[in-house]
Amino acid sequence: MAVVSKRFDDLGSDGAPARLGLMGGTFDPIHNGHLRVAEEMREALELNAVLFIPTGAPVFKRNQHVSDPELRFAQVSEAIASNPHFDVSRIEIDREGDTFTVDTLRQLREHYPENVEFYFIVGSDSAATVGKWRGCAEIAELAHLAVAVGRPGSADAETLEQVIMEAAPFKLHLVRVSILEISSTNIRQRLAEGKSVRYLVPSAHRKALTPFPEQETPDDDVFSKAFFNERKAELEKRVSAKRFQHSLGVSEACEQLAKEYGLDVKKARLAGLLHDWDKGYDDEGARTRVRELGMEDEIDPTVVEKMPGVLHGITAARALGSEFPGIPADVLQAISRHTTAALDMAPLDMALYIADAIEPNRQFGRIDELRARVGKATLEELYFETYEYWVFLLFERRKPLHPDTIRIWNAYTERLPRKGKRGTGDDSVSGKKKKHKK
Ligand code: ATP
Ligand code: MG
Repeated sequence: MAVVSKRFDDLGSDGAPARLGLMGGTFDPIHNGHLRVAEEMREALELNAVLFIPTGAPVFKRNQHVSDPELRFAQVSEAIASNPHFDVSRIEIDREGDTFTVDTLRQLREHYPENVEFYFIVGSDSAATVGKWRGCAEIAELAHLAVAVGRPGSADAETLEQVIMEAAPFKLHLVRVSILEISSTNIRQRLAEGKSVRYLVPSAHRKALTPFPEQETPDDDVFSKAFFNERKAELEKRVSAKRFQHSLGVSEACEQLAKEYGLDVKKARLAGLLHDWDKGYDDEGARTRVRELGMEDEIDPTVVEKMPGVLHGITAARALGSEFPGIPADVLQAISRHTTAALDMAPLDMALYIADAIEPNRQFGRIDELRARVGKATLEELYFETYEYWVFLLFERRKPLHPDTIRIWNAYTERLPRKGKRGTGDDSVSGKKKKHKK
């Protein structure tokens, strides 16, 4: 049977009565309101565990942009990891098509023995719409409905109870929870306005949420030969001769990768050329650059202090973006991420990351093995192999690891099969995504 939860798959298998809370949501992104609701519900209703279930394609949000499911999943995983009563499930993400709660409940009912009771947890705003949920009556049969009352702007408890019970005979629990006036919508808005989201979201993924401002009108000029050559001449003055050669090599390698994997070749060339734009600064210079560009609030102070070597990608992207507004956001993003990588790497991000390692001037260790994989491995496989290799080098050189590097590692270990397990014989990364099915 499919795995619905790593931690609680066997809940109820001893035959004892158990209560499982189910916290569905888009979690775009997950925030402290979600976490607190789940925790208070667990206490109030004496739940054995709460399973967070990020939606795949949410029906009620069909007309709005929703972030990549894998990113939302990774953020939820990380946010709940330290609570032994919480787990996250992939069932809605792995299911094809639109997400309906009733399908999820059926699937869970099939998985768990009858002595496990479900408590479907919702905020009062969602609860007010139960009448519109597909299979509302069946949902009422399959699960208790645990409504967190007190969310600002929603109906009072009495009215709400009336509305819900008119829709179907729910086993209803209205639970008063600490009011946290937090919503994902508000968090996205704050991010877009460049405001702080500190203490609204679990601190670990604050940085991963910082979006790259989308440029409205990408200017074609930045892809002209003249623009390329001007920047090239400028770069030669900004960095050492060796670094300059390296940049030309990365530009070429990135272009090759783009051709091989069907990405925008011009963007790849440009990202490669400019990725080390800020590499000419020493450690103190890099820190000063962070201050000058007003980026202190966006970067973890520990990183600024202990790992100034990773700053040049982030500052270069910001500086280039303001000096040359025509450079598209995805090119800037790739530049910004080339040192640390990120949880949700776009194809261009991956190409630049790989190119930085395999460009012709690099000559060390196992780089040739990576070069030989171009065209054989998928872009994502090659990216992760490169990433693994870099992490390995950091370990060898006893260097500190950037928090994002650790996060990416943990997210990937969730998705890729373990290596070196006796009997499996599978030591490649190619078996990915198969892991979650048994
Ligand atoms: P969005 O603004 O994008 O709709 P959201 O903050 O409402 O995001 P969802 O992922 O839509 O988050 O919510 C999942 C569930 O959590 C819903 O049932 C919602 O009502 C509930 N919920 C979210 N935030 C809170 C909160 N601060 N207090 C109580 N319930 C909440
Ligand atoms: Mg919502």
